[in-house]
Amino acid sequence: MDFYFDNAATTPISKRALEEYASTCANYQANPSSIHREGLKAHEYLEENRDRIAKVLKVEKENIVFTSGATEAIAIVMENLLWQKTPGRIITTRIEHEAVLSFIPLLKEKGWDIVQLKTKGGFADPSDLKEALNEETRLVAIMSVNNVTGAVQDIRTLVETVREYEKNLKRKIFFFSDSVQALGKTGLDLKGWDVDGASFSAHKITGPRGIGMLYLKNRQLIRPLAPAGGQESGLRGGTENLAAISAFRAALEETYENRLEKEERVRGLNNLIRNAFSDSGSFHINSPENASPYILSIATPLPAEVFTRMLIDKGFCVSSGSACSNNARKKAGGVLEAMGVPGKLSMNSIRISFSDSTEKEETLLLIKAMKEIANG
Ligand code: PLP
Repeated sequence: MDFYFDNAATTPISKRALEEYASTCANYQANPSSIHREGLKAHEYLEENRDRIAKVLKVEKENIVFTSGATEAIAIVMENLLWQKTPGRIITTRIEHEAVLSFIPLLKEKGWDIVQLKTKGGFADPSDLKEALNEETRLVAIMSVNNVTGAVQDIRTLVETVREYEKNLKRKIFFFSDSVQALGKTGLDLKGWDVDGASFSAHKITGPRGIGMLYLKNRQLIRPLAPAGGQESGLRGGTENLAAISAFRAALEETYENRLEKEERVRGLNNLIRNAFSDSGSFHINSPENASPYILSIATPLPAEVFTRMLIDKGFCVSSGSACSNNARKKAGGVLEAMGVPGKLSMNSIRISFSDSTEKEETLLLIKAMKEIANG
């Protein structure tokens, strides 16, 4: 395989997750909703996995709803707004993932007032949030770690700002944080942040594709997108993908083993690239200094597509955008411009993203390849 630096788009599945997937397929063949012994066995295993995931995330198992991925988890929260009797205000940012942003036209059409906070330097400012809150506000949606730059938002302070406002309002404002790029990284703290909802995806942490989850502090606040057969306590109908759920759990447990050491090692790799290009006139680091070490956005001397293709020719996988959408370049440019990166630099920016198994040798080879391309 080529040298893989596109882990924010997806990670290769780990051996442990793959083995868990295969053994669950082989050993749990019944529908968890069936009342026969095999069904009960599958149901028990489903709940055991939920329990173990909850323990890793330090939340209750009742807080966890399995979905087909983060996009679906986000859709459950956004579409829930359409049930409200009167539309109100939604406060979000311009740097959210497309899974959130794509709802804006529909919600506007339905009469919702959308405020997108500025994100100078990559960050939503709590005082801007305070100013934007009004009596009609129903939802605040701010991601915890940006998928293009790795910028980490101060979710705790942002939530506190909302909770303070709620005291006079005497009504809850739902605080949702898309936390896909925070999962398996230090700093994720659902209870400490006091968010009402958060979305996650297994394939960003060496689990399988097509499985994710929605964290909900209070399930009663959300109406289901598809109640169907009442699975997931009526919040997400459809037969549970037990093999994917158990592989997700295996990947999560593996990822959280020696978490701090792993993250420090990745920070070292990220710094190798930062240091190699920080004094260079032809490259510019876009990611904030205190960004997640797993994601690095860097402006190159050439248009991003050209630079990415030249790296591909040399055997490296990086991304010229967020790669989570078919129109990745345009979307990444939007995020960079929203943080204040000038147009040309943003058009020349690539994303390098690491995993816990990225090696130092391949990082040094990537630096060498980037310098060769820049020097023509
Ligand atoms: N949110 C963020 C921040 C992401 O990086 C992604 C990745 O694609 C998603 C949401 C969507 O996740 P999924 O592929 O599980 O639908």
